Amino acid sequence: MNHDENNIMVILSSPSGAGKTTITKKIQQKYRTFKISVSHTTRKPRSNEVDGVDYHFVSHEKFKKFIDEGKFYEYAKIFDNFYGTSKESVDETIKKNDIIFDIDWQGTKQLSKFKNLKLIKIYLIPPNKDELKQRLIKRNQNSPQEVEKRFKAFDEDIKHWEDYDYVIINKNLENCYKQIENIISINKKKSINFFQTIE
Ligand code: 5GP
Repeated sequence: MNHDENNIMVILSSPSGAGKTTITKKIQQKYRTFKISVSHTTRKPRSNEVDGVDYHFVSHEKFKKFIDEGKFYEYAKIFDNFYGTSKESVDETIKKNDIIFDIDWQGTKQLSKFKNLKLIKIYLIPPNKDELKQRLIKRNQNSPQEVEKRFKAFDEDIKHWEDYDYVIINKNLENCYKQIENIISINKKKSINFFQTIE
């Protein structure tokens, strides 16, 4: 991969409903160098989602074709739908930008196998399960069955926190965001210094 070696890739994972999407968008708004990796999914769009912005919404057939053609760095089945990260899009974006990924633990494991990717892996957890349930209900974009399915997935999801470089409890959105900002700025500096040292 040919890219600006100072660019970094940040993965933000969390159980569904821990506030990850809000934080991802905040980072992109503040740091113009950051682009959010837009995944492909077979899930149907929610009413507030835009094709090409939130996700590339594709059919099962198209997704399967992408898998067969080796077009994904990683993909996973989550809540009965497929989600994947396109190689082409990541390789193109990292030439000029930092990237932030909103992907789950399965995708994180797969991306970690590519030793050439400079990943910073952050796992967000909600302060407790009651709070998580309230957030899932409040989000109001999922049916009660969907809320229940996502809530039940929490126990499995949280087992994978050890695969991450940082674990943050999202008790207060602003605080949590500040911690992530710190992590990004430390790693960005490290990355620049490292490459200046070896040049
Ligand atoms: P949602 O349906 O709520 O948008 O996303 C469900 C889960 O899929 C979230 O945990 C999100 O991080 C994860 N996800 C979204 N895109 C990808 C992807 O490209 N790969 C993987 N592995 N997970 C993804």
